[in-house]
Amino acid sequence: FIFQAIRCTLVNCTCECFQPGKINLRTCDQCKHGWVAHALDKLSTQHLYHPTQVEIVQSNVVFDISSLMLYGTQAVPVRLKILLDRLFSVLKQEEVLHILHGLGWTLRDYVRGYILQVGGGLECWCLGPALG
Ligand SMILES: [Zn+2]
Ligand SMILES: [Zn+2]
Repeated sequence: FIFQAIRCTLVNCTCECFQPGKINLRTCDQCKHGWVAHALDKLSTQHLYHPTQVEIVQSNVVFDISSLMLYGTQAVPVRLKILLDRLFSVLKQEEVLHILHGLGWTLRDYVRGYILQVGGGLECWCLGPALG
C-alpha cells in the first residue's frame, strides 16, 4: 500500500509526505501529526466541494479518498463519513463493497460508523505487538 505525497495541513508544519508510523499507523512518522491532518490536503484538492462535478467522480478516486479515511482505523469521524456517503452515493453498490472490503471494512460496519469485530489483517496491525 503506497501513499502518494500527502502533505500535512497543519500550519507551520513542513512535512511533505505522510509516513505511516510503526506503532500507530495513523500517526505520521515524520511530523508526528495525525492522519486526518494529512488526509485533508488530498480532500481539498478533489471535487468534493463542487457538487456539479460529482457525476465524474471515478471509483478509483473514491477509493483513494476512502482509503485515506478508512485505512488502518476502526471508526470514521462523522464529518468524514458524510463526505464518504456523498461519494459512495455516485457509485454502484458492488464498487462500494469492493472499496470497503479492500480496506478491511464491511458495509454493515461502515453504516454503523465503526468496526465492531476486528478480524483478519487489522488485528495484526493494531493488536499484534501488544499480544506478542
Ligand atoms: Zn505535520
Ligand atoms: Zn507528516
